[in-house]
Amino acid sequence: MKIDVLISEVGLRDGLQSVAPVMPTADKKAWIAAQHAAGCREMEVGSFVPARLLPQLADTAEVVRYAAGLEGLCVAALAPNLRGLRDAAANGAHKVTLPFSMSETHSLKNLNRTHAQVMEEIRACVAFLDELPANRRPQFEVSLSTAFGCTLEGPVPEGRVLACAERIIGLGVDEVGLSDTTGYGNPGQLKRLVRGIWRECGKDKLSGVHLHNTRGQGLANALMAVELGITTLDASLGGIGGCPFAPGASGNIVTEDLVFLLESMGLSTGIDLAALIEVRELVEAALPEVELFGFTADAGLPIGYRAA
Ligand code: ZN
Repeated sequence: MKIDVLISEVGLRDGLQSVAPVMPTADKKAWIAAQHAAGCREMEVGSFVPARLLPQLADTAEVVRYAAGLEGLCVAALAPNLRGLRDAAANGAHKVTLPFSMSETHSLKNLNRTHAQVMEEIRACVAFLDELPANRRPQFEVSLSTAFGCTLEGPVPEGRVLACAERIIGLGVDEVGLSDTTGYGNPGQLKRLVRGIWRECGKDKLSGVHLHNTRGQGLANALMAVELGITTLDASLGGIGGCPFAPGASGNIVTEDLVFLLESMGLSTGIDLAALIEVRELVEAALPEVELFGFTADAGLPIGYRAA
């Protein structure tokens, strides 16, 4: 099936890392299998960080190995440094994302690293990847987090984001991703950042965005991204995770609502929406204390709904 927009499910990483309960490994595997069966073709299933920092994701290696056995599924994982990247590659991840906070204050507070230090880490990651045989080398992306604004610094200058993107691509990274970690973004800002990065780095160096719905702008930003020609959008089943600051608002974009938006306007995601909505039951049963969001699941599919 031809896919117009690839939806990358991040619920198992961005979602589960922001909720307190730890989902058992068997439930994670069942979630991945069910969502794969519903047509999802990319899932970020964990993060290679020390278990003491994120006990929710302590089983990432096992989960990645399991997911890599599913036909046609691109298995993505996060890695904050070279050590994580090594583990991700050793366990068969197809795509690895290293987060790089555009706010240096945020970078220092969360990763204890200056921008110069992160650049050095990226350089070491590229050197490691260059030694791997092509069939075991994951796609390597650096995510420009807090690119739309920072909860510590406030506005993040767009010129800084573009300059960082250019330097990162210059180091030999495959792609950068644009990430609205804080949910500060608006469609006009997204348009300027996407076009700016394409101008500075080339259109093939930015194909995906990671948007949050903290202030309800997630789908508006997603639509702008698609109109511009972005082809990969991150989203989370039931909108879990993404550090929601506003009560009643999902943190991440809700995968089900994003599939509805795209499919109903004639853009294929490859995902069977009714089957996707059923996956929620499995997640609800595994995490009964976690609230799931989503207008489409609550309201039901409209009469006469037709997928793209
Ligand atoms: Zn996020």
